[in-house]
Amino acid sequence: LESQFLRAQRLESVGTLASGIAHDLNNILTPILTASQLLQLKYSNVDERNQQLFKTIESNAKRGAALVKQVLHFTRGVEGKRTIVQVNHLFSEIQQIVEETFPKSIELATNIKPDLWAVIGDATNLHQVIMNLVVNARDAMPNGGTLSISAENIFIDQQYARMNLDACVGPYIAITIADTGMGMPTEILDRIFEPFFTTKEIGKGTGLGLSTVRGIIKGFGGFVNVSSQVGKGTEFKVFLPAVEAAVTPLSEDLELLKGNGE
Ligand code: ADP
Repeated sequence: LESQFLRAQRLESVGTLASGIAHDLNNILTPILTASQLLQLKYSNVDERNQQLFKTIESNAKRGAALVKQVLHFTRGVEGKRTIVQVNHLFSEIQQIVEETFPKSIELATNIKPDLWAVIGDATNLHQVIMNLVVNARDAMPNGGTLSISAENIFIDQQYARMNLDACVGPYIAITIADTGMGMPTEILDRIFEPFFTTKEIGKGTGLGLSTVRGIIKGFGGFVNVSSQVGKGTEFKVFLPAVEAAVTPLSEDLELLKGNGE
């Protein structure tokens, strides 16, 4: 438990540092981006090679800004809106993205229960959680395999809650994203939620995906379990506290008062 506490502290100080750097970097990138855009307007008649140079400045400033945004998102924890999210809608969107953009060598197996309970938080954030997990699953299967996405309502009982510090007794939805990819040895598994930890090539991974995932899930009041076997695959199971009662579509956009949870 003590080492868990030390780890949490270490992650927090890395977070504070990263947030400071990200904030300063943002102040540097914003004028670069604006200036490059102004220059493009002012010199819209220059030859193509020079236009390309302006574009390079602009697109890289944009990439930097996107990275900064991701860091701030992670370190500030999850702000986002707090609305009632109908999770079933989200999955049809994700399924479509996967079907249209993932390599054909990856087979998609879904088992989304039709009447999932609603959860409370920011739908865009939850979308990002699932996309991050799904993209990691894709990257773990360069030679193809099966991506399974499933979701169900579960009720966490006292026995389970006693064994898992993050769990409370009550209704949850459980979202499982599993792949039949390369899997991870424990040395890697132990570090995957650390900000900037990545085994991917430079330019392919930022190492911020899973730390963001964890931050968002925390914001929902939930938790995530991972199991992995080298050469066999990996399974992420996300648990989010649910609103058990049936929710009418009209209340979908209902803004809840902030301040619940935490
Ligand atoms: P990134 O994807 O940018 O590397 P993440 O935080 O999303 O950052 O993931 C960190 C690391 O965790 C990855 O580089 C990879 O080594 C490992 N990882 C994450 N998901 C999986 C998976 N489904 N299978 C195998 N390894 C994974």
